[in-house]
Amino acid sequence: MGEEFGFFIAGKWTTPKGRKTFESINPATGEVLASFPQGTVQDIAAAAKAAKDAWPKWRRTPPPRRGELLLEASRIFRQKKEELARLVTREMGKVISEGRGDVQEAIDFFEYASGEGRRFFGETVPSELPDKICMTLRLPVGPVGLITPWNFPIAIPSWKTGAALIAGCTAVFKPSSLTPLCAAKFVQVLHEAGLSPGVMNFVTGSGGVVGDGIVNHPDIRAVSFTGGVDTGRHVYEAAAKKMIKVGLELGGKNAVLAMEDADLDLLMEGVMFGAFGTAGQRCTATSRLIAHKAIYDDVVDRLVSRAKKLRVGNPLDESTDMGPVASADQETKILAYIETGRKEKDTLLLGGEKLRGGAYDRGFFLAPTIFEVDRKRRLAREEIFGPVLSVLRARDYEDAVAIANDVPYGLSSSIYTSDVRRAFHAMQDLEAGITYVNAPTIGAEVQLPFGGIKETGPTDTREAGTTALEEFTYVKTVYVDYSGRLQKAQIDTEKLVRE
Ligand code: NAP
Repeated sequence: MGEEFGFFIAGKWTTPKGRKTFESINPATGEVLASFPQGTVQDIAAAAKAAKDAWPKWRRTPPPRRGELLLEASRIFRQKKEELARLVTREMGKVISEGRGDVQEAIDFFEYASGEGRRFFGETVPSELPDKICMTLRLPVGPVGLITPWNFPIAIPSWKTGAALIAGCTAVFKPSSLTPLCAAKFVQVLHEAGLSPGVMNFVTGSGGVVGDGIVNHPDIRAVSFTGGVDTGRHVYEAAAKKMIKVGLELGGKNAVLAMEDADLDLLMEGVMFGAFGTAGQRCTATSRLIAHKAIYDDVVDRLVSRAKKLRVGNPLDESTDMGPVASADQETKILAYIETGRKEKDTLLLGGEKLRGGAYDRGFFLAPTIFEVDRKRRLAREEIFGPVLSVLRARDYEDAVAIANDVPYGLSSSIYTSDVRRAFHAMQDLEAGITYVNAPTIGAEVQLPFGGIKETGPTDTREAGTTALEEFTYVKTVYVDYSGRLQKAQIDTEKLVRE
């Protein structure tokens, strides 16, 4: 049965009576970890009211003081790192070293965001008139909605919450229905760090009711959403109708370009990690490997022999390379893509099946899969979000870039080359929010902006880095005239010049 949880509203855990519940399940074993109530529109109203009531005080709390609370949260995350990492692995299925990485991002981002409280800079700008000073202030937009996916169940909530809170916003947070337990433990840490009641509120339940309810609630002034393109499109439309700010971090179809002068050992290390880390369920996962024709056959041989050695199994075992995929739905969706590859006559080089027998039968384990794919096929163009790598052949650098850019997504990208000029061209030619040189498509650091273009990031917002605050703040322009008389900008300037 596992632990039973409620909502966290106005600083209290509340369990609504007689409510339908849903369960959080370990994808490696089928074990039930916890149960959560299905939220309703009334629950959203209560959470939004708490966030609205708490906002005036939080907004006036000086940013460095807000930062102290975030730093305390970072310290608690550090203290609980192993416990939370094991929970990430049990609830989501990524291997334990990656579970630790998930929590480390929370430690790092809360620490980074706390410092932003002392760097909440505006500008001072000269006036065209005498005895007048002009400046900009950065101010919080108000109570915000935070909606997150399951693949980084601690890290993604941290990126959103750390930025929203340091900006002076209060929040209503809805996690993925696959990973509510990590989210609940995350909220407990923030509470322990000393946030005032109502600053952070937490409601679980389906996307269609709770997610939609948050976006459409009149008191929610901005929404930060991470998830798939289809859901993101819906959120974008709803936010546009309400005329509110929205940040969208959506899917990807990330490519590694392997040039004829690439270090192939380094390339193999990077592609294994990028394609099969987190069982390919990262928005930045390496989903395509585009290899120059001169090295193509060698690359394919090496890939297959390397991927064959990956150990798939219990994600809590330190020697496991790849755990299960996150849910039955995930498994079904990925197997359907593998079937599509077969039907479209892509060449299956490795895997392509559900693993069976022994402990595999209790969870959602898939074999690392590699297809040789034609550039126009679905496996070359659509996000699979699983341990399936498509390999494509390119005639030259220009052709490789054309293939890489010929998808509706634009999140991460990478080039392996030893030609520095080509690397600099690629940084500008690849249509993506992120480009790595001689490194895989994954590996974001919190002090840099993170996000995409095209359908991945239609709102052009960036999480993390100094850009993180933009999602949750607006710029106020202030003019202070200390001349003691009426001065008319644009009109009086002309006169002054003539005098
Ligand atoms: P998803 O199905 O789009 O769900 C994301 C979140 O939206 C969940 O909390 C979901 O709730 C909620 N939701 C569902 N319907 C909604 C609605 N009508 N209104 C508002 N919210 C709604 O995505 P996912 O399967 O969790 O995550 C995988 C996707 O996320 C992939 O496409 C991946 O590329 C993308 N992703 C992108 C980034 C990035 O930074 N670009 C990072 C990580 C993941 P329920 O769980 O209750 O349905």
